[in-house]
Amino acid sequence: MGRQQFPRVTLFDAPTPIQRLERIEAALGLKGARLFVKRDDLMGLGGGGNKLRKLEYLLGAAIEQGCDTFVTTGARQSNHARLSAAAAARMGLKAELMLTDTVPRDDPSYLHNGNQLLDGLFGATVHHLPRGTNALTAAHVRADELRAEGRKPYVVGAGGSSPVGALGYASCAAEIRAQEAEMGLRFETIIVANGSHGTHAGLVAGMASAEDDPRRILSFTVLAELAEAERETLALAHQTHALLGGWEIHPDAIRIDGSQRGEAYGIPTEAMLAAVRLMARAEGLLIDPVYSGKAFAGVLAGLAEGRFTGDVLFVMTGGTPGLYAYQPAFA
Ligand SMILES: *Cc1c(COP(=O)(O)O)cnc(C)c1O
Repeated sequence: MGRQQFPRVTLFDAPTPIQRLERIEAALGLKGARLFVKRDDLMGLGGGGNKLRKLEYLLGAAIEQGCDTFVTTGARQSNHARLSAAAAARMGLKAELMLTDTVPRDDPSYLHNGNQLLDGLFGATVHHLPRGTNALTAAHVRADELRAEGRKPYVVGAGGSSPVGALGYASCAAEIRAQEAEMGLRFETIIVANGSHGTHAGLVAGMASAEDDPRRILSFTVLAELAEAERETLALAHQTHALLGGWEIHPDAIRIDGSQRGEAYGIPTEAMLAAVRLMARAEGLLIDPVYSGKAFAGVLAGLAEGRFTGDVLFVMTGGTPGLYAYQPAFA
């Protein structure tokens, strides 16, 4: 896919493992389907998670442009903000995080624990924006201030989901294809959570550029409503594929399910709580309450209803520090 042309730093050991979840298969009494997970939560830097794949390309670009400060946005408990802080520290850049209170919570664990605790430990400068502020606009205003002080900022919006960031998941598609060849199987369905769309869009662009079927990718939206998620994921998949020299992505290539989002981003659902508990009790594995928990609830429902067959791959995207911000939901 010609990814050598894009500057990139190394933030984790690839490939991340693919493992089979036989205890959950047994718990569901599966016949005719096998369940595997790709462990994108198993990354050594900053607590790990999917944002490190995007940050390899984003920091690569920032460093090539001579930038010294990484400015980005997110919700108060953003995993992307936490991993931006860790990755910037690792690469010797400063990080400035423009955070908004999108989730209506004001208990101490949400305000101060989980990712909030870690942002501070990684030495990031954290700006808490008043509710209703456009965070990306605020990030550009902050970048102007930094430039006036003689610094060189690199700005990227929520989730690091620019086309350059999404390249991280285009290369993950190549990684999955290589693992399939090694394992001697082909996943019929590859499932991810969809927040800022970069993970799904990058996988689609990567599959398309390998002339593989992007319809193997299915996401569960946890942030945008379905129609907006479809529109934005398609646009980003197209832009990412264009960076790779590819053609326009057909709207049919984008498969998104809106059934697990619940009331809103960051608001627990019963199905999410059950999915997080099942993963913990049957397999001893942790998934997060905002993204993977909701998406995995969709995986379990689809398997139970026989909608997914053959070999199914769920991408574990990390975010487990978020569990510590959701103590009241699990109490
Ligand atoms: C950000 C995130 C996602 C979703 O990825 P997007 O590229 O934003 O759609 C999934 N899981 C976790 C844990 C995340 O932090």
